[in-house]
Amino acid sequence: MTPFTDSADVSHFINGQASKGAGTRRQDVYNPALGSVARQVVLAETADVDAAVASAEQAFPAWADTPPLRRARILFKFLELMNQHRDALAAIITAEHGKVFSDAQGEVSRGIDVIEFACGIPQLLKGDFTEQVSHGIDNWSLRQPLGVVAGVTPFNFPCMVPCWMFPVAIAAGNCFVLKPSERDPSAALYMAQLLKQAGLPDGVFNVVQGDKVAVDALLAHPGVKAVSFVGSTPIAHYIYQQGAHFGKRVQALGGAKNHLVVMPDADLDQVVDALTGAAYGSAGERCMAISVAVLVGDVADKIMPRLAQRAKDLIIKNGMEADAEMGPVISRQALERIEGYIALGVQEGAELVVDGRGIKVPGHENGFFTGGTLFDHVTPQMRIYKEEIFGPVLACIRVNDFATAVDLINSHEFGNGVSCYTRDGHIAREFGRRIQVGMVGINVPIPVPMAWHGFGGWNKSLFGDTHAYGEEGVRFYTKQKSIMQRWPESTAKGAEFAMPTHK
Ligand code: NAD
Repeated sequence: MTPFTDSADVSHFINGQASKGAGTRRQDVYNPALGSVARQVVLAETADVDAAVASAEQAFPAWADTPPLRRARILFKFLELMNQHRDALAAIITAEHGKVFSDAQGEVSRGIDVIEFACGIPQLLKGDFTEQVSHGIDNWSLRQPLGVVAGVTPFNFPCMVPCWMFPVAIAAGNCFVLKPSERDPSAALYMAQLLKQAGLPDGVFNVVQGDKVAVDALLAHPGVKAVSFVGSTPIAHYIYQQGAHFGKRVQALGGAKNHLVVMPDADLDQVVDALTGAAYGSAGERCMAISVAVLVGDVADKIMPRLAQRAKDLIIKNGMEADAEMGPVISRQALERIEGYIALGVQEGAELVVDGRGIKVPGHENGFFTGGTLFDHVTPQMRIYKEEIFGPVLACIRVNDFATAVDLINSHEFGNGVSCYTRDGHIAREFGRRIQVGMVGINVPIPVPMAWHGFGGWNKSLFGDTHAYGEEGVRFYTKQKSIMQRWPESTAKGAEFAMPTHK
């Protein structure tokens, strides 16, 4: 494998080769803990996207014809390499994203889960067969790959989110073009190199680095049959509209504002642990982070001082340090946006219990650090409640009862993840049934579904009708064909004027 050189420009990966491409535009890639530029990423022009799609189109017929079992064997080899290089990949993630190393290792592991799932592709592609739909006629359905498909991914999971897409897509016989986030682009390139080492034929997996220019070129390209997107809601909506305009299949996963309801009978020690990890882990830059605590009855008075203490005690430092609990946020702009929201919350009248703004980490004075912030007495009218902040800011809302908590959540425009802490089985069941959110946890703060269950929110957290990975992922990346067959011996003489199955 090509050694990963720290300061080299991050390139595309087209037709089995790293390539600087046709463009001259570059963008700085930061180490957020240091606040300094670590390297640059090349930004694709339309010609680079055309080259990637052309290489994928060329590879497609042979790859689609490769028996699923053989495709799976290459994925098994890739799985082995991912396990072997898990820590190297995690270190790249921490260096460009900032999340703590153990969390980066966890991200790689969750990506690996989907690769393991995709290794089962022979079973997943097994079709349905009905014998004797009429005399001498059989009917079966099978699923075939779409062709060249593309993935556009966000900065917050540079390994896991691409792994929600490409292992399933290529296992199903498609060729893939990935456009990773330009803010932490190296993990994608590293995985491309591991795929090549695993024996994946050139052109089956390509990476184009870039920004809107690359995304728009992929959306407009007639050779791209489907686009999977994960990112913020306005861009997800745009991708969905443009993709539909150009006649493509689209699944576009958007932003979130995830609530955690605490019922008075919950184990409050567990609640404090859960809220601390789910609100401040990965500096709140998870699409499944809990950003709103809905505290029912007298819960708020009991836990607020404890939550405040935990927010103040967070160990915030370079994510590569062993005891770090929270690293920096991704960029200076993100830091300014998050701290701007904290100022807005104060203006809107929320009670700022812990103010995370302005912290300095010794030796990392230019890093993009902000502390854990805690607001109490937030109301549904406030923008800090309605909008996605995507930082370590927990907004607490006090409500009198369970029904109000459910109505509040069901009125929110997002519907990605949600959680309810209770010991009451009836409440848990009602919550699961009535809540209008795609992924629900009962005493589980971040209920990310396992690889075979599929990931996706409701409302403005997902545009399209299939979730990522799992069986829905297989359906998204394949099209169904129905074949009806009979043989001359069972075909009656003469023209037929009624449906053959009518007989
Ligand atoms: P983003 O929407 O800014 O970027 C996502 C991707 O879209 C990137 O590859 C980016 O290059 C591209 N892009 C950005 N602007 C574009 C434009 N105008 N036209 C075309 N493409 C464009 O998101 P981000 O800041 O990288 O990631 C954070 C967001 O992603 C948050 O909103 C988070 O909730 C969301 N997210 C959602 C999920 C989910 O599963 N629902 C998972 C992870 C992240």
